Amino acid sequence: MEKDFIRGIYLHDGFIFEPRERCPFFWVYEYWKKYLDWLASLGINAIEFCTQAAFLRKPSTETEFRRIEIMKRVIKYAHQKGMKVWYIVASNVLSKVPAGEEPIDQRDKDAYEEPCPMNPEARGKIIAAASYFFEQYEGIDAFELFAGDWGGCNCGKCDYTTYLGLARDYYNEIRKFNKTAEVYLNTWAVSYWQEYDKINPEWLKIFDDEARLSMKVAEALEDMPVDVGICLPFHHLYRPLAIAGRNAEQCPAWPDRQMVEKIHQQGRKVFAWPHFIMENDPIHIGRWGFMNARLSYLRALLEQLEPLDLDGIIGNLYNPQMQPLMAFAFAAMTKDSSISDEDILMKFASMLVAENDAGKLYNVLAFIENNDPWQADLPESWKTRHVECKKGWSDVMDIIKGITARADNPGVLQLCPSDCLKVIESTLEQLEKKPLTGSLS
Ligand SMILES: [Zn+2]
Repeated sequence: MEKDFIRGIYLHDGFIFEPRERCPFFWVYEYWKKYLDWLASLGINAIEFCTQAAFLRKPSTETEFRRIEIMKRVIKYAHQKGMKVWYIVASNVLSKVPAGEEPIDQRDKDAYEEPCPMNPEARGKIIAAASYFFEQYEGIDAFELFAGDWGGCNCGKCDYTTYLGLARDYYNEIRKFNKTAEVYLNTWAVSYWQEYDKINPEWLKIFDDEARLSMKVAEALEDMPVDVGICLPFHHLYRPLAIAGRNAEQCPAWPDRQMVEKIHQQGRKVFAWPHFIMENDPIHIGRWGFMNARLSYLRALLEQLEPLDLDGIIGNLYNPQMQPLMAFAFAAMTKDSSISDEDILMKFASMLVAENDAGKLYNVLAFIENNDPWQADLPESWKTRHVECKKGWSDVMDIIKGITARADNPGVLQLCPSDCLKVIESTLEQLEKKPLTGSLS
């Protein structure tokens, strides 16, 4: 892939979970540095963060101000490492948390409201809340304007064109402070811009709407300022498959290379933003806190994206400490698609344990890969091959307890090798309780 191809990771920082020090929102600057060192060593060349729901207001607490100062330093440090920083902006979302009170988790209904942007007063407040951050993050490389989730309006008058109008207002506001940052539309949850009764409660219909309305937004790019590009989630390439075992022929086939070329001809960039492949989807909530190994499905997705000639791919992580392997695999595959899953697992194992133990640890990682819930969820025709694994359940538990972590940290992992082995061991223990049950468990 060419030199300026973006291999980015979105570190979701809107959710608060325990232990708090693991949430990117609460990371201290030294931890961000360590994490950027690790990503840069892998060849990841962009990170993204996002001030969502509870935080979309003018900051008033020590936590918020500290956070903004940390992120300003993160932007500078990322630039020193040759990495870009993108910032995600929600569409019509405003915090409801009173000034002076600490931000709360964005999943809390008391945290936010989604006022209709057709109301001029509400629209003014929405833009003003984001404007503060546009001014603060002056050195940032790109702003990405989310369609929904959180955000969207079901008033009956709003539709995807309302989102486009709001995006244009955001663009104008950004340009007051920042003439150079790139601006991207992100069509994630664009289906939330329609009346509730038009949204079929079935997940699959939402995915169809996501594809149909993303296409509309892509077509409407022609009318946006020339330096606005687009990020497409491509849910239909993977999520309906994983969630509901949908057959390939039921998935809308878009966009094709021609559509991407058309956007390129306008001088705009097109990115893939496939959320919930490195991290677990809410439908697999029972797997949160597991270390994922889902290399074969990540590869299947990347293979589908490859012919589109995109400008980059952004993977996502919520709990980055638990997902060092997926970050490693994402970087490895996007740098060199010829590397095998087995090689990736072996290289990762070699960073954690001495050479004579690497083969043993490989088998543990291969076992986790072969027990990924997607293997249980997907219809036969979509299952990927298992990686080679010479060990069974009782063997891998013995192996993980019997191997010793390297004392050094040659891969500059953000967790030291011994902590990383603990993450793997705890994953095996949890797998023992919830073996191969896949979705909704
Ligand atoms: Zn509305």
